[in-house]
Amino acid sequence: MLSYRHGFHAGNHADVLKHLIEVLILDHFLRKETPFLYVDTHAGAGMYDLDDRFASRNAEYRSGISKIQHARRELPAELRLYLETIDQCCDQFGKDIPHCYPGSPLVALQMLRDKDKAHFFELHPADCDLLQKQAYRHAKITLADGLAGLKALLPPASRRAFVLIDPPYEDKRDYRTVVDTLHGALKRFATGVYAVWYPLLPKGEHRDLVEGLRQLSPEYYLKAELATHDERGDYGMYGSGMFVINPPWKLAQQLETALPVLDKLLSEEGQGGQTLEFRQP
Ligand code: SAM
Repeated sequence: MLSYRHGFHAGNHADVLKHLIEVLILDHFLRKETPFLYVDTHAGAGMYDLDDRFASRNAEYRSGISKIQHARRELPAELRLYLETIDQCCDQFGKDIPHCYPGSPLVALQMLRDKDKAHFFELHPADCDLLQKQAYRHAKITLADGLAGLKALLPPASRRAFVLIDPPYEDKRDYRTVVDTLHGALKRFATGVYAVWYPLLPKGEHRDLVEGLRQLSPEYYLKAELATHDERGDYGMYGSGMFVINPPWKLAQQLETALPVLDKLLSEEGQGGQTLEFRQP
């Protein structure tokens, strides 16, 4: 049974980290004329109304995107690009929603050119339906398991692809399935850029995932983590991370600038912290 609805978390610190890295990777892809394929294996609903009953319940966006917006004038170029993309996305897809925040598939559609291709997977029927309504003209959208569906899309005809993998990890087997899926994906298409989001949890469920991903690509990866507060007891996410296989070479340098700013703006006073680790040829 799928109980996770991303609407409860839209615009939180994890979305900020994930969508910043998504935007920076897409910006890199756009620098070459050759078209590419963007795949979102866990796409969500597309656009979120931050005033609706989901997002307003815990108002997680207040300790995420709202803090970035308040600091708009003092942001480095990387975070300005992220914020401008979010703003443009809301203008294009959220015209009727005064207080909106876009999900990863719409962030991508905002940036993709007509010649690029997008494929989104979403397993929750209601969220898939919402996504269909907004994006059917621009992307192929499938109500299916994105980890199982990725294989058939690789290698892409264009020989360029960026795959975002953003599971809710409600099913603890996802940690292992993500590694196995990427093992298969790299065999079919070794040069793709693959970005995986994961939560930082006190019991350390993410550690085997990170180690498994590192072993898949020990010489060419980037890991960025942002803890927004210290661990509190045995449960509850205290931050999140992104692991990128075959990252664009400038991404590490961009995050060396942007991550300390995210830490300053989003972490609780004297708690949390950020780490960046990378290997590239
Ligand atoms: N990527 C989105 C974004 O950044 O805006 C958020 C995605 S949310 C964290 C995870 C989504 O994956 C949920 O909407 C959930 O319904 C969906 N989901 C869960 N398991 C799935 C699976 N095996 N395949 C595709 N979607 C799945």
